[in-house]
Amino acid sequence: MQEDKYADAAKHDKNKGGFGMKLVKKDDFLNFVNTLIKNDSRTVVGVKSKRNKFIYDTLNSADELRLEYDVTMLSPNKYFLPPTETLLRYDFTGKFSVQAVNEVTPLIIIGIHPYDLIAIEQMDKVFKDSNPDYNYIRKREASILIGTNIQNVSSYAFSGSMGAATTDRGFDLMLTNIGDKYAIEIGSIKGKNLIEKYAKVSEADNDTTREVQRIKTEIGSKFEKQLNFSSEELPKLLEENYDNELWEKNAQKCLSCGSCNFVCPTCYCFDVQDITELNLKTGERIRTWDGCLLEDFAKVATGENFRKDRAARYRHRFMRKGKYLYDKFGFIACIGCGRCASSCLPDIADPCKVFNSLKEVIE
Ligand code: SF4
Ligand code: SF4
Repeated sequence: MQEDKYADAAKHDKNKGGFGMKLVKKDDFLNFVNTLIKNDSRTVVGVKSKRNKFIYDTLNSADELRLEYDVTMLSPNKYFLPPTETLLRYDFTGKFSVQAVNEVTPLIIIGIHPYDLIAIEQMDKVFKDSNPDYNYIRKREASILIGTNIQNVSSYAFSGSMGAATTDRGFDLMLTNIGDKYAIEIGSIKGKNLIEKYAKVSEADNDTTREVQRIKTEIGSKFEKQLNFSSEELPKLLEENYDNELWEKNAQKCLSCGSCNFVCPTCYCFDVQDITELNLKTGERIRTWDGCLLEDFAKVATGENFRKDRAARYRHRFMRKGKYLYDKFGFIACIGCGRCASSCLPDIADPCKVFNSLKEVIE
């Protein structure tokens, strides 16, 4: 039974439940984006360049869009689970009152790579299916996701090994660059309505559909970095290596900075604090991102720390990515974006490198 359970790890359902495919000339796509910015009530955000990196930010013009990017510094999940968020406001003046807060800015997000769409699907499962979190849910439901197939692969990424280089779901619209046009896969009614209302498109013929399929098939082979084994083996591999000396050895270099947590699209831990104003009458309950690599993460009210050793915290992150969340939700919580690897100064956060090392030790 154990073997069967692990055999399903990291598989993403490729069932196609779309609404067909359209073609749009690149000039017309820019007009479409500019029309959204000008006429749609939702805020339009997309991938822009910032110095020599890429970020998601509000678009002022379609010219700012950089759909040829490799990877963004943070994933679009920052819009659904913001780094800091007010959950409620309280007031002790007179009769004690508490008001729930859920500030939602409806968004159209343009340029999401497939691995980040898969990460959003995983977070949906965490925040919608198990213990509904309405601050997350309302933000997600008010959003439109426009994906784009990868044109340039980050040298840190290994999404091809994690079944996350492409996806056939999780988007409202999905763009594929085919020369002077984009093919647009329509993935939802919301996406269909957006196209009908604002875009000048034509029908995609069978040749276009075949070309999109060819491009998607090719993407997987563009990743320089790869796991040397099937990601389906990860839960079992990690279970067998709980006491591996690699954790202690690598953790000696760990700065406990938490960067690997904060850039990760599948990390979702947060801390909640009540911040009372100096007047001692009003205040806010806020939640902020937290990370299991930070020293105080597992500290409890009595002062006891369940993971006070760096090695235990370091190991915990990999166990969570490749085993604990698989056991809980049925997915491997790493989509191979490589953001953690690129943000770790001592170069010890790369899951691809760590998982391959564990496998080598066993063999
Ligand atoms: S593994 Fe790297 S990024 Fe993560 S906490 Fe340690 S030093 Fe920071
Ligand atoms: S663990 Fe690293 S590579 Fe995997 S999803 Fe998180 S940031 Fe990306």
